[in-house]
Amino acid sequence: MHPLLDDDLARLPELLDETRAYAVRLLAGLSDRPVARTPVRRAPAPLPVEGVGAKGATEAFAERWEPGFAASPGPRYLGFVTGGATPASLAGDWLTGALDQNPTSGIDSTAPDLERETVAWLRELFGLPPEHEGTLVSGATMSNAAGLAIAREWLGERNGIPVAEQGVAALGPVTVLSGSPHSSVGKALSLLGLGRSAMRRVDLLPGREAVDVARLEEALEELGGRPAIVVANAGTVNTVDFDDLRAIAALRERYPFWLHVDAAFGAFAALSPDHAHLVDGLGEADSVCVDLHKWLNVPYSSAVQFTRRRDLQARIFANSAAAYLGPLGDDPEPVHLTPENSRRLHAVPAWFTLAAYGREGHAEIVRRDIALAALLGERIAALPAYRLLAPVRLNVVCFTLADAPERAGELVGAIIESGEAFLTPTVYDGIPALRAAFSNWRTTEADVERVAKLLERLAP
Ligand SMILES: *Cc1c(COP(=O)(O)O)cnc(C)c1O
Repeated sequence: MHPLLDDDLARLPELLDETRAYAVRLLAGLSDRPVARTPVRRAPAPLPVEGVGAKGATEAFAERWEPGFAASPGPRYLGFVTGGATPASLAGDWLTGALDQNPTSGIDSTAPDLERETVAWLRELFGLPPEHEGTLVSGATMSNAAGLAIAREWLGERNGIPVAEQGVAALGPVTVLSGSPHSSVGKALSLLGLGRSAMRRVDLLPGREAVDVARLEEALEELGGRPAIVVANAGTVNTVDFDDLRAIAALRERYPFWLHVDAAFGAFAALSPDHAHLVDGLGEADSVCVDLHKWLNVPYSSAVQFTRRRDLQARIFANSAAAYLGPLGDDPEPVHLTPENSRRLHAVPAWFTLAAYGREGHAEIVRRDIALAALLGERIAALPAYRLLAPVRLNVVCFTLADAPERAGELVGAIIESGEAFLTPTVYDGIPALRAAFSNWRTTEADVERVAKLLERLAP
């Protein structure tokens, strides 16, 4: 064994204790360190030829990299839709690395069953019916891609074409209909060979990001019976609007289409009694995408993908040439269901946080974040320098500068500079704007007041 490895092996308990202490220091300072950084590009250093051992590597990391990192797991990082990591999920994440399981198949361990249990818990959490079977992937983009791959296979089935065997060219042009699809849907269409231009945007309801279901019906009618894919959106990123999932699902009685629902963070509305109606009908979808590294507050990278047509999913992702991985059967091993073969046991952090806090604990996070978004919305509405661009429907506040929306980007820069908070710039309905998204388990009213004060101070 190389002497540095040999030393580290002998010192493993101390090394892990030191790493733990370092992580504890970082997390203890999370509320005080600058929330975001104006990035300064760093050129890659040459590959170390002689290493420095784990302790030396930690020191080098602490000096060279960590100071430039954002406090993204902290309470006032309100950019994108981010979420942090609950204590239990972090513990689970560390153990995932320590145990280093590959949940590809169950021939050597029960790891795939842990994943199955976790998926069953998540299905219940979001109120999906048992016909929805799921797998864990690395993020909502992969979940959307997997759901749309199954949709593609279904289109083939309708036309007697096994797309997984013959390729997407055999399928001919495909129509995808959606009102306000997330950018990752275009990426998935590109990846799947369907092409970004397969997407036809359907008109929205006036002043909303939700699709106009009557216009969707017209678009389906125009297809003259040709099967299509509909991507419904349950929680848009700018204004957290929701398509009427029940009304869309009901259209399947008259038109053939696959219903994929992107509920990356919107699915968590099911945990708030006052908002659960927003995801009414989610269970009727053919495939559903939900992110876990956002509102479940587990570390990156984690999302779940549900579908009613596991048989089609297995046709796409089957790794069937590898005989040692076993036959597909009725309950295929994960390797036959996911884009990856080998992968991290993503389920552990999600399992830990659900085991630790249960449905009630996670419902509290969701309800609190929703209330905090409403509170910031009220504070901003009361500041004359700002203007809300949409009602605060769930957990995002979308607003701009009342008299100078074109300076929204500058304001984001000033917010970053302050070190107090992080919000992301956006363009909503052609207007440059900002978004404050609440999805972190740590955020409190005091944080909202701090952000409101900051906005007041930075107002032009
Ligand atoms: C975040 C998000 C995605 C993409 O998720 P990643 O985890 O970044 O891959 C897709 N759809 C919606 C609605 C999202 O909010």
